[in-house]
Amino acid sequence: MRIDARLANPAALAARQWRQQHERAIVDEFVALLAVPNVSSDKPNIQRNAELIAKMIEARNLTATLVSVPGGNPIVVSEIRTPGATRTIGLYAHYDGQPLDPKEWASPPFEPVLRDRPVEDGGRTIPLPAAGTRFDPQSRLYARGSGDDKASIVAMLTALDAIEAAGIAMKSNIRFAFEGEEEANSVNLEKTIAENKSLFAADAWLICDGPVYQTRQQSLIFGARGVMAFEVTLYGARTELHSGHYGNWAPNPALELARLLSSMKTDSGRSSERRSPTRRRSRRCSSATSGSGRPTNPPSRCTTC
Ligand SMILES: [Zn+2]
Repeated sequence: MRIDARLANPAALAARQWRQQHERAIVDEFVALLAVPNVSSDKPNIQRNAELIAKMIEARNLTATLVSVPGGNPIVVSEIRTPGATRTIGLYAHYDGQPLDPKEWASPPFEPVLRDRPVEDGGRTIPLPAAGTRFDPQSRLYARGSGDDKASIVAMLTALDAIEAAGIAMKSNIRFAFEGEEEANSVNLEKTIAENKSLFAADAWLICDGPVYQTRQQSLIFGARGVMAFEVTLYGARTELHSGHYGNWAPNPALELARLLSSMKTDSGRSSERRSPTRRRSRRCSSATSGSGRPTNPPSRCTTC
């Protein structure tokens, strides 16, 4: 028999009950946060976001601190110390958003509006339901960051309210870290953590920043993927080469690129094995050159390896 963990877990039940009873108040707090522009490069508004989040945390009788390095956007941190706890769980989210073009928006991105359906399905703007009235689950709140990733911040703080209201005792110490330049490649995150290690020490971090499955199934995923970008320049003949003279032996950039890309993944989709520099050297030493300075083919034995 499949047991729904959300119904078996008293904390999850308490969270659901709290949310159902306080939908309008939760959304009001969310709307106020969404109304502060959050493009990572907009320093004054980024600061306003950080200060508002600090106030939201302090309203829960916790202490909030803004930490940053010169030139960096503040990370809002806070902690809950639980007597007797032997572990610390970190919860991460980011409050900044990607750059945008307001002309591409159906309504101003920092003026949150509720629609009865998605815009692409002809959704119309509707007023927020009155306090005590339930929201239609099909309605959508439109604003930059309403999903990625201010929703996580409001969800976490709301969960705290629900846990406290239900009188559920924490088992772990909790840390919060709300970053302000995730959408700008988190360029100062590593440095900020290195300079403030005690504020970020935890046994595990939950990164609350990811899409929900299309089935709406709630999920917990181990590991977080990053992204790496690079440019590849391929060189080839500067002019057209006669196929009868050069065909099949002159280097073909398109073919070399295809070979390079296909070498990065196995047929099952896994990243190809990375060869250690030592191993690579043993296969073909780059130091081995002919007297002309050009690599020999095959390479001669190198005197340095
Ligand atoms: Zn995100």
